[in-house]
Amino acid sequence: MKDEQKDPWHHALRHAWEHSRDGYRAAYRAYCKSPEYRRFRAQLRKVTGGVCQRCGAKRREMHIHHLHYLTVGKERLHDVRYLCKPCHDAVGEPGNREVIPPCPAQKESARAAHAALEAQAPPKPTGVRRRPMC
Ligand SMILES: [Zn+2]
Repeated sequence: MKDEQKDPWHHALRHAWEHSRDGYRAAYRAYCKSPEYRRFRAQLRKVTGGVCQRCGAKRREMHIHHLHYLTVGKERLHDVRYLCKPCHDAVGEPGNREVIPPCPAQKESARAAHAALEAQAPPKPTGVRRRPMC
């Protein structure tokens, strides 16, 4: 199977990145509104308990900080950190990031959630949803 079928967002974002920064920004904005990203965000909020993984605060504006962009569009929990806006601003871009360890208390649930997320993706190997016979 081709990569673009398996991880369409990842493929689209990497492709856009190689061709134009503006195209990438537009693709990234679209990705942020996608059901896939919303699902990922909800999963992240759940395993972190909705608190910042750097300072432990629970604020109105929470961000997903990418430790790197190699897996953008097909992120896993270990590729990102859940941060409040002040911490995200402080940490900055992935290039000058500091190491933000996951909270030990959340490790167990994070592992379980990670396993669940891994089990979900990729959706269906054929790309065609099969209906159960009944
Ligand atoms: Zn914080």
